[in-house]
Amino acid sequence: MQDISTYNFKGKRVLIRVDFNVPMNKETLEVTDNTRIRAAAPTIKHILDNGGSVVIMSHLGRPKDASESRFSLENIVEDTSKVLGVDVRFAGDCIGTDALKMSAELNPGEVMMLENVRYYKQETTGTESFAEILAKHGDTFVNDAFGTAHRAHASTTVVAKFFPNDKMFGFLIEGEIRSVDKVLNSTEKPLTAIVGGAKVSSKITIIERLLDTVDNLIVGGGMAYTFVKASGGKVGNSLVEDDYLDMAKRIMTDAKAKGVHLHIPTDTIIADAFSNDANIKEVDITEIPDGWMGLDVGSQTAAECAEIISNSRLILWNGPMGVFEMENFQAGTVAVANAIVAATAKGAFSLIGGGDSVAAINQFNLADKVSYVSTGGGAMLEYLEGKELPGIKAIRG
Ligand code: AMP
Repeated sequence: MQDISTYNFKGKRVLIRVDFNVPMNKETLEVTDNTRIRAAAPTIKHILDNGGSVVIMSHLGRPKDASESRFSLENIVEDTSKVLGVDVRFAGDCIGTDALKMSAELNPGEVMMLENVRYYKQETTGTESFAEILAKHGDTFVNDAFGTAHRAHASTTVVAKFFPNDKMFGFLIEGEIRSVDKVLNSTEKPLTAIVGGAKVSSKITIIERLLDTVDNLIVGGGMAYTFVKASGGKVGNSLVEDDYLDMAKRIMTDAKAKGVHLHIPTDTIIADAFSNDANIKEVDITEIPDGWMGLDVGSQTAAECAEIISNSRLILWNGPMGVFEMENFQAGTVAVANAIVAATAKGAFSLIGGGDSVAAINQFNLADKVSYVSTGGGAMLEYLEGKELPGIKAIRG
């Protein structure tokens, strides 16, 4: 594997896998959020500035085949040109002879974009012969699509084998990997993980993995009520996964055995309906009356969590503390976000990884006040769980 910072791109045609699966307006087919294009720009510009040319390869949505033109990458060529400040040419296909001719004739400083790789079913099946044709577009392969690194698709994984000596990560993937590795492998202490969100079932592997590394594990969100019920508390109509009560008990026992401070909420904001207009009150989390449900942590819990977080040196946050989308149930999530910001200002390293905590930090306009906000979604979660991502392995070997 090569290093993008030191690799000599002069005269090289560089095939780069990016994640330009951007949100679009379904009627006008306009890009509604170009974050992913901007995120890949440093890698593309670096290659161009160092004498290379670039062939952009991506998927967009889940088309059944090329007949679904609303998934054409042609719809995002203009936005990409604007972001890069370079005219991006479009190849109407990703493996056709015209597309291959276009990439063969590319001059240093020029950029072209291939058509949606998912127009071919061989992409998702990871077909080697398809990947081999894609590989002909470049002398060098750069993978900068962290969001799809957990998929063993032709353009994310298989293609790398055709570049035994000329493959590397882009800056975006490098940053994602570095930030997770920093949290999971650093010896700095205390390390605090905050795991929230709806369900224990979707976070169980991460929680188990974290028990071996963290000093403090704060549990919040809907999953907290399964822990409370497992300890004998009354949770009323709160979200509970009865199948996971034993698992919750086991996690509490394991945490004790491993010397991890497991922080389960002690108070909660309850509501008599899942609505911002419902009646609400703050109660002990073990005494939720029937007909009421816990939708946020209470003020005492929020203050305790904030205290733990602000004294931490490494922080990982995955999943909100409550139903932050509704104003009446966002105080716990806001308190956690503010504490992370405060700890970061004092020199802690903070990583916000995984869907809804990323949405929360963006909603509170605090994304630029934490150390790293992951764009990785499912890939980030799998990496945190300790799984080997095929797209990463294909480059690292
Ligand atoms: P996840 O994708 O698993 O991280 O879950 C995020 C979702 O969990 C958000 O949409 C929250 O509204 C929801 N959530 C957080 N706390 C609760 C709760 N106490 N009850 C029900 N849903 C919750």
